[in-house]
Amino acid sequence: MKYFSHEDQAPLLLGKRQLKPVDNPGGAWRNYKKGERGRGRVHELTTNLLVCQKSLCAYCEISLLHPQLGFHIEHILSKSLNPELTFEYKNLMLSCFKGGGEVPASEEDPYPVSCGHALLKSSNEFDEALFIRPTEADCERYFFYELDGEIVPHDNLNAQESERAQHTIDVLNLNCRRLKRLRGDVIDQLSRLSAELVKQPEQLQFFIQQELSAREGALVSFWTTRKQLLIPD
Ligand SMILES: [Zn+2]
Repeated sequence: MKYFSHEDQAPLLLGKRQLKPVDNPGGAWRNYKKGERGRGRVHELTTNLLVCQKSLCAYCEISLLHPQLGFHIEHILSKSLNPELTFEYKNLMLSCFKGGGEVPASEEDPYPVSCGHALLKSSNEFDEALFIRPTEADCERYFFYELDGEIVPHDNLNAQESERAQHTIDVLNLNCRRLKRLRGDVIDQLSRLSAELVKQPEQLQFFIQQELSAREGALVSFWTTRKQLLIPD
């Protein structure tokens, strides 16, 4: 999980909506996105969040420009349990999966849906106090990537922090086989390249700098996995 920060001010149309009360969060949110005006509001918000998130999913860090998965606007903390957060800018982020059915379950990968549309997250069956948000400035220190791509609580954590990390991994289904395999492939590829460049330190430094820099505002998928491997603590 990578730390992302929002801009200081909410986008204009969202800011206007914040001035009105929210009686029924689900209905209010659907209305906000409905029709021609709704399309404009969604466009404003997604454009803003894509820049803030450098085109990465708030939770798994897959590129949101991934044509198969698409993305949706996600409430970090549930709007039904926290109606006052329905239009709260800093509670809104983009998560991978447009509708949640873009990757069908298979025998090999029975639960391939992660992040905002993962079962526990989308049904609000999680503990908000334990859940680690990508808007927490130190969120990255909670997680470690094993060589096979598995994400685990970092071994520097105390018991309570470790519980938070494991809960977040489970709620977002961050160890589904799809994500684990993709991260494992990134680790294999980067390990090979780093080994090839180990005797050319200048080229290696250049490669690391390129790999972790945004291009046209977008970062590469699984940024914190790459960072852990290329710039170990
Ligand atoms: Zn994701």
